[in-house]
Amino acid sequence: MPAPSAAEKVAILTTGGTFDKYYSVAGEMEIDEPTVGPILDLAATNLDTEVRSVVAIDSLDMTDEHRAQIAEALEETDARRVVITHGTDTMPETSEFLRERPEAIKGKTIVLTGAMQPSCMRLTDAPFNLGAAVAAAQLLEPGVYISMSGRIFEAGSVAKDRSRGVFVAK
Ligand code: ASP
Repeated sequence: MPAPSAAEKVAILTTGGTFDKYYSVAGEMEIDEPTVGPILDLAATNLDTEVRSVVAIDSLDMTDEHRAQIAEALEETDARRVVITHGTDTMPETSEFLRERPEAIKGKTIVLTGAMQPSCMRLTDAPFNLGAAVAAAQLLEPGVYISMSGRIFEAGSVAKDRSRGVFVAK
């Protein structure tokens, strides 16, 4: 598929994960507001984006009810190009869940991404991963993908290698 000539809107659905974690004043790791807005501002992109927080949780706590909320948000957006920020631990499971929801994903290119280090840290992979996912969402055919570790994987063909902290084909 050629890259769209007039850039289409990209919806960014946020769900939490390490991407949005920070240390509270009490020294606890917490997840609050999505951090993709400031990252997009810093990148000075003039892409039309729509950011929506669906849930804000560690993906180890992600249930199928949460996943159904993500599917609902996909049905609700008119954007055909969607990035979902998500915790890395269960990102493959969510991508597979969504792949089985044809009514939610029909005609859409959906790219999940996350971060191994919180976006608020100086040494973080979050902006790189978000940028790669936004680009991938504009270029790939409709379907469900994961963009992590500088690579693109189709849902169902990817796993997180916890010992190395990278996503690999399975
Ligand atoms: N436990 C975190 C999560 O899956 C890990 C991460 O995001 O990298 O939400």
